[in-house]
Amino acid sequence: MRKTKILCTLGPATESAEVIDALIAKGADLLRLNMSHASHDWVRQVYPRIREAAARAGREIGVLMDLTGPSIRTGDVSQPWELKVGDEVELRCKPEAAASREFSCSVNYPELGKDLRPGDMISIDGGMIQLRAQSVDESRVIGTVLTQGLMKSRRHINLPGVDVRLPPLTAKDYQDLDLGVELGVDYFALSFAREPGHIQHLNLLLEQKGSAARVIAKIENQQALKNIDTLVAASGGIMIARGDLGSECPIEDLPLIQRQIVERCSFHGRKVIVATQMLESMIENPVPTRAEVTDIFNAVIEQVDCVMLSGETSVGRYPLRCVEVLDQVIRRIEQKYPSGRFASDAPLKTNKHKTVKAAITLANSIPGSKLLVFTLRGVMAHLLAHQRPEFAPIFAFTPNPNVSRALVSARGVEPFVMEFAHGQPDASIRSAIALLHQRGLVRQGDPLVILSDALYDGSHVDAILLQNA
Ligand code: PEP
Repeated sequence: MRKTKILCTLGPATESAEVIDALIAKGADLLRLNMSHASHDWVRQVYPRIREAAARAGREIGVLMDLTGPSIRTGDVSQPWELKVGDEVELRCKPEAAASREFSCSVNYPELGKDLRPGDMISIDGGMIQLRAQSVDESRVIGTVLTQGLMKSRRHINLPGVDVRLPPLTAKDYQDLDLGVELGVDYFALSFAREPGHIQHLNLLLEQKGSAARVIAKIENQQALKNIDTLVAASGGIMIARGDLGSECPIEDLPLIQRQIVERCSFHGRKVIVATQMLESMIENPVPTRAEVTDIFNAVIEQVDCVMLSGETSVGRYPLRCVEVLDQVIRRIEQKYPSGRFASDAPLKTNKHKTVKAAITLANSIPGSKLLVFTLRGVMAHLLAHQRPEFAPIFAFTPNPNVSRALVSARGVEPFVMEFAHGQPDASIRSAIALLHQRGLVRQGDPLVILSDALYDGSHVDAILLQNA
């Protein structure tokens, strides 16, 4: 069993029922709907295909809706500008501001002139064009071009190191959120999350709307990094959005930032997803670069929960081959280095944490053992995953499909929906073992470490049992 999960972004290259079936067969565990590109009509067509494909495969597949968030963008330019070093570019942040330069366009963020100071960097189009702010007032910013490049319409702007006062969600995000809640997606990713209040706001909305979805905070800039501990603690998980982070932070810091975020997620017991450019070259080519394979190695060694594919599977030429490569590389690395050091310092705050740790210690000491967990709300199963057992896979049983799909993103967890036999813990355990035999996931005699807080009705018993399959 592969422990590191694979999250694939759907798009024109992967929208058909046949290709979704094939993505799942090749190893996709979660599928992402990227609302920066997806229309509501498209999502309504594709979403049922995912659920039908998961049912055909007999597997839990998580669906993550990625909300666009409040990005800053340039407006339209009548034709692309060929910018040279030293040129002046005007960014107009108020509708009434008139153009005063040859290279002048609007931006969609009225506070730009308030947030920036002369000398600040302005990074456009993922860093393809760099400006230094030269003069700034409430209605316009004039920047000097530092790197030549072609500037087209509606380009993404990053402001490295600048604290911006953008709202957590835009009007479009609220509409997308309603669609995601209506369809029943399992996770919402919040782009450009900068403060824990942003996550709490979204969690509250979801609660009011009756959704059980979990919120993943996308860490994209230095403001978020300043608040990393409170953001991690407030969220259900973190996505290391290396695309924007690479524009917002010194590029040489990116591997250190990834490592720091993984460590904070491990400390707080939260999911962590490594995103962006894992197999970027395979958008065009059938084989990965050597550096990409080594990047996957690094994420697996860091024991992250998920790795993500974006353009590789949404618009790339080889989406299925990408999943195959990711699956093969991860399996190879996990086989060679099944354990790591990234969960070892997680504090054992409660007796439940300590019980889980005891079960893991037992499983770690018995070669070939498997962990089984029976869980109503998923708490014990998530705790097991966060403490990163060294070898044993975690088979999680729950009667609740939402809980089951929330566990799909957890490293090393294979979740199953199963009704528990009331007042008969032995019967529930027997059914679970029978299911695992049926799926070929255990062999006769395998040592099983069984953990539960849900089988003994009416009494709160946290139990660890040891038996053979
Ligand atoms: C990123 O910036 O790496 C990222 C995943 O975000 P987006 O979806 O906006 O590209």
